[in-house]
Amino acid sequence: MITIYSRKEIDAIRRSCRVVGEALNYMGELIRPGITTKELDDELEWFIRDKGGRPAFKGIKGDAPIPFPASGCFSIDEVVVHGIPSKRKLKDGEIIGVDVGVEIDGFYGDAARTFLVGDVSFEKRHLVETTEESFWKGVELAEPGNMLSDISHRIQKFAEGRGFSVVRALVGHGVGRNLHEEPQVPNYGLPGNGPKLRSGMVLAIEPMINTGVYDVNVLQDGWTIITADNKPSAHYENTIVIFQEGPDILTLVEPD
Ligand code: MG
Repeated sequence: MITIYSRKEIDAIRRSCRVVGEALNYMGELIRPGITTKELDDELEWFIRDKGGRPAFKGIKGDAPIPFPASGCFSIDEVVVHGIPSKRKLKDGEIIGVDVGVEIDGFYGDAARTFLVGDVSFEKRHLVETTEESFWKGVELAEPGNMLSDISHRIQKFAEGRGFSVVRALVGHGVGRNLHEEPQVPNYGLPGNGPKLRSGMVLAIEPMINTGVYDVNVLQDGWTIITADNKPSAHYENTIVIFQEGPDILTLVEPD
């Protein structure tokens, strides 16, 4: 069942989403060559808790042997999503996806950005920009009466038009009372398939775009998803709410 959230509930979701957006901006300020992803994750956890939130990814159980051990996912270059922070230092020329989830008073927000580390090649920058742009192309169709797969199709068409590929194995999702709930939001597919979008639906739309093939593999830790050909991948995500007057992008916070 897809939940239609009331204005009051959306205000609660908005509070979590604001912390997510602010935390991502803070990560962007810290990311530079030489910092470790563990250091970033420690800062992230402190930031979220200081704002009254709980890091929603920490302790999540998946198919992996261990629950997710960190506050954020840190996914470098060929890592698509769900990278686990470590003592490995970021290097000049890398790209890093940071995915953050926050829960406050039983309501969730979820978003991700891919950041550039120092001086990054044209090809990787093009990938990162295309991934973000594909999100915005999809969101243009996020209005009541349209079909969910209209968004999916638009994202795929845009990314593939730029010569990239769209990950199939992972998709976006509904979010609100749960971190992940119905519906699934693929970043590919034919237009015109439901569910029909309605005012009050809250969706995490999150294109994962690869430079090479769209296939992915899971590392032995059970979490880390990498591209099958080891070529770079980028991720961009926001939690949005569908309104009659147009979508509201809850996790996008202008930096101070
Ligand atoms: Mg998500």
